Amino acid sequence: MSDLDRLLDELRQRRPSTRITTQRRLVLEALMADPARHHTCEDVAAAVAQHGVKLDQSTVYRILQWLKNAGVVSQTDLGSGSDVYALAGHPPHHHLVCLHCGAIIDVDDAIFAGLRRTLQLAYRFEPRIEHFAIFGMCQACQEHPRTEDDTFEDEMA
Ligand SMILES: [Zn+2]
Ligand SMILES: [Zn+2]
Repeated sequence: MSDLDRLLDELRQRRPSTRITTQRRLVLEALMADPARHHTCEDVAAAVAQHGVKLDQSTVYRILQWLKNAGVVSQTDLGSGSDVYALAGHPPHHHLVCLHCGAIIDVDDAIFAGLRRTLQLAYRFEPRIEHFAIFGMCQACQEHPRTEDDTFEDEMA
């Protein structure tokens, strides 16, 4: 059984009313073709187009939202202009994003154990912290601060 079939089985078990349409299957296939990557709506639409199926980005977006609600996909803003989607990993992975140089540093899931527990206990909230981005300033940028203007280069272009 392929990974895709296994995932589809899992989806059907979790949500018996699930209909796996060709479009949904193609989107999942595109994600699984490169499971470690961050995918944008555009990437997925382009990958699906290679199979000769034209899906507009709003359709891809809706399918990705459906997969997100089903717990299969995570959606994250990494500050790049479009949200990225990733297959929900085991264990999940997270990022620190430097607002100054754009560096992305991977973070171990274990550091969120305390936060998860606090949210469960104090707020009775079951958080889905599966692909988290925290914005800030990396060590190199702290040691070599740039002027404020450098940060806003793009706005003036
Ligand atoms: Zn990621
Ligand atoms: Zn930096």
